[in-house]
Amino acid sequence: MHHREVTFVISGPSGVGKGTICDRLIREMDGVALSVSCATRAPRRLKDGSMETDGVHYHFITPERFEAMIDEGDFYEYACVHSGYYGTSRSFVERQKEAGNDVILEIDMQGALQVKATDPSAVLIFILPPSYEELRRRLVGRQSETPEQVEKRLSDGLGQLAFAYVYDYIVVNDDLDEAVAAVADIIRVSRRRTVNNKKTLDDIKRSFLEVK
Ligand code: 5GP
Repeated sequence: MHHREVTFVISGPSGVGKGTICDRLIREMDGVALSVSCATRAPRRLKDGSMETDGVHYHFITPERFEAMIDEGDFYEYACVHSGYYGTSRSFVERQKEAGNDVILEIDMQGALQVKATDPSAVLIFILPPSYEELRRRLVGRQSETPEQVEKRLSDGLGQLAFAYVYDYIVVNDDLDEAVAAVADIIRVSRRRTVNNKKTLDDIKRSFLEVK
């Protein structure tokens, strides 16, 4: 049964493990594509000491280029986060859906609300840490931000938590395997929603009518 392609939004405070969960979903599930966002911030150093790669972690572009792309309507959604621009390529989303894939967007709540406004059948998933202390421990542990940046991300995280109430699902990332399994369950069950299977329903109904 082929369902209509679904947009999944994954948000959560910085350091909660969204990236790791998304990487696992892409490796372990068929028919899902992860969007690589455009961003104006500089590439960051990763835990293993290497730098983020252009085209893999983000498409790193200048603020001028980003603003030109806004004017050209190139973004499915975009937002200003941590004083930089981030946005999802409209053509990526369209191409993946044409190819029959569901799309996962790892974006902030400003973007999530834009996506829901344009596509009410989009599914919004908010990843939570087990506690504030655990989130602080993970952010400090990844050693990719200065202490000031850690504090900024933690206080932004508190602001984002207020928006978790408007998401369709929350998943607590305490145990990574369990969190990945929970998001995979949400993806599977969302594919079964009537709103995403109208064509199948219509086809079967038509077969009943044709017999009469
Ligand atoms: P980071 O700089 O830590 O990679 O990402 C900072 C924040 O920007 C995260 O909350 C992340 O989800 C969000 N973000 C990344 N890409 C996009 C995007 O394309 N659109 C929006 N709205 N937010 C994004």
